[in-house]
Amino acid sequence: MKDWHMLIVVLIVMLTPFLPFVLKGKCPRCGKRKLEGVEPAAGASANPYIAYFNCAACQAQFVREKSGPMQPVPNEQPVESTQV
Ligand SMILES: [Zn+2]
Repeated sequence: MKDWHMLIVVLIVMLTPFLPFVLKGKCPRCGKRKLEGVEPAAGASANPYIAYFNCAACQAQFVREKSGPMQPVPNEQPVESTQV
């Protein structure tokens, strides 16, 4: 009786597309899985192959082109600081 086995296979196949969302990206800076995809600022870049990520733990920003390596976003503009 392999019904349970088939059920597991079907579940894995169904869940596979959602894995990138369940398993959040690991932040190269602080090492925590807190990376969240963010929409690029309006007018910043119209390239649909570039994805932006923001770490919820250390507030680091990263950019990834297609499936290439994740790179930190150069801070060209001073980020508004909340530290006092
Ligand atoms: Zn981080």
